[in-house]
Amino acid sequence: MIDALRPRLFVPSLLAVDLDRLRRRGIEGLILDLDNTVVHWDRDATAPEFAAWIERAKEDAFRMCLVSNSLGPRVARFSVELDIPAIARAAKPRRRPFRQAMEIMGTTAEHTAVIGDQIFTDVLGGNRLHLFTVLVTPLSPLEFWTTRMLRRAERLVMPGRKAERE
Ligand SMILES: [Mg+2]
Repeated sequence: MIDALRPRLFVPSLLAVDLDRLRRRGIEGLILDLDNTVVHWDRDATAPEFAAWIERAKEDAFRMCLVSNSLGPRVARFSVELDIPAIARAAKPRRRPFRQAMEIMGTTAEHTAVIGDQIFTDVLGGNRLHLFTVLVTPLSPLEFWTTRMLRRAERLVMPGRKAERE
């Protein structure tokens, strides 16, 4: 069970994700969490450096799909802004939205990575399908109470969130 909660990689930010390294691992598709991974959960615009990271990934021919548990209108706005497909109200860690995203991107599990800031949604969901899971430090410390409860549980299974396993 604990293994299912462990990311393959832990990095301080999406900006620190090494695309070349992912490519060398055979990763072709990136499932991106939205809130606190690509954008602050309480903001309505993508910071320029994050938009630039996404653009670079596109130039490097990575396929991408946003998979978010947030509501449709918010997710749709970022989908348009960043020009990448998105699945909203995803109910991560359920497997269905991850499978849908791979279908959209045309990738298989062994060529797909998940990048997100939450162990119990992004990492667990990705690990259930044997995707390459990358945990990032959340962009904003302020969150919904449901997320705060999960954070407490995260600290129990991953003290300091410093683990890196490859
Ligand atoms: Mg998130």
